[in-house]
Amino acid sequence: MEFTRRQVLAQATMAAAVYTLDPHELCCGMNAYAQTAAGGETFELKKVGDGIWAGVAALRYKVNSNAAIIETNDGLVIVDSHSKPAASQALYRDVQGATKKPVKKVINTHFHWDHWQGNQTYTQANPSCEIIASDRCKARLTDPNQMNGGAAFVDKQIAAMPAEIDKIKADIQKASDPAAKARLENNLAQAEAYLTELKGIKPALPTRTVSQTMTLNEGGREIRLIVAGRAHTDGDLFIYMPKDKVLVTGDAVVGWMPFVNDGYPEEWGQTVGELEKLDIDKVIVGHGEPEPKGHLTFFRGYFTDLVAAVKKAGADNMPVEDAKKKIADDLAPQYEKGMSRYPNGQYRERIAANIEQTYNKVVKKM
Ligand SMILES: [Zn+2]
Ligand SMILES: [Zn+2]
Repeated sequence: MEFTRRQVLAQATMAAAVYTLDPHELCCGMNAYAQTAAGGETFELKKVGDGIWAGVAALRYKVNSNAAIIETNDGLVIVDSHSKPAASQALYRDVQGATKKPVKKVINTHFHWDHWQGNQTYTQANPSCEIIASDRCKARLTDPNQMNGGAAFVDKQIAAMPAEIDKIKADIQKASDPAAKARLENNLAQAEAYLTELKGIKPALPTRTVSQTMTLNEGGREIRLIVAGRAHTDGDLFIYMPKDKVLVTGDAVVGWMPFVNDGYPEEWGQTVGELEKLDIDKVIVGHGEPEPKGHLTFFRGYFTDLVAAVKKAGADNMPVEDAKKKIADDLAPQYEKGMSRYPNGQYRERIAANIEQTYNKVVKKM
């Protein structure tokens, strides 16, 4: 089943408004000056198991999530569909070059815009394709007031993009360095194309939800859908293939610094700890290259140490501005290098926001 954007929004009561979306408030938001890939949506397919691939997304101004592609005897299961239909179409073309099997199921790991806005590619190619998510994820995808993802957030982005595009144009006028100017012009072209894409989105929302861990026996393959607790969102869904020891995490585990805004820092480490109990060879993360199991331990450690440091700062009545500086430096020896392996989402770029958001959630209970 597929809803038009209008049908979904007919349920929304919110008055039209012009939104400005701060890239630092957005999951995986990109600075207009960032170096991003030019020339279309591209993915590198990396085999991580027998009939299992990671579709590792190239860095774009409007970020694409990774995908997992799981082949069964009679079809394909795809995890996550990126930020726009053009991206899921590009991945689908790559996959269809390798196998003509139909996509029977799409699984969304969580509600963020960069993981589900390409769903419609698969339901258009195969109208009986199921979309599966956790029940909390579906609730957020259909919440008219939800930020950072969901059907209503598509319209919020359409309202906000013209101002964002104007800002990039103004930055281009001001830029004197030719390299910076070229990066801005590339990102401007991507921003304009993204706005066109947004206007064509027909939200393909979950047709089936899971509230507890369950096992699919899909074309001879065991696929476990795991609800392990709250982490990056309250509806994170993990996908585990026991035979090949492959885990797919969405943004609960990424190759760069986590986005904490919609997250639960006190529970995040424990949730990742649950995943560590599984027998794992490879982890397909939400963004970045596939990782070994040890990355889960590193990521859990970051949250355990971040939360402990923030709680101590709170107990000492340390002002948040001071805590941002002190904790950033205190945690750097252990985490700065491992969290700064990509040109974006680096430790120093995000640590202050991680500390402030954790402080608000854990100390101020906001
Ligand atoms: Zn993401
Ligand atoms: Zn996310």
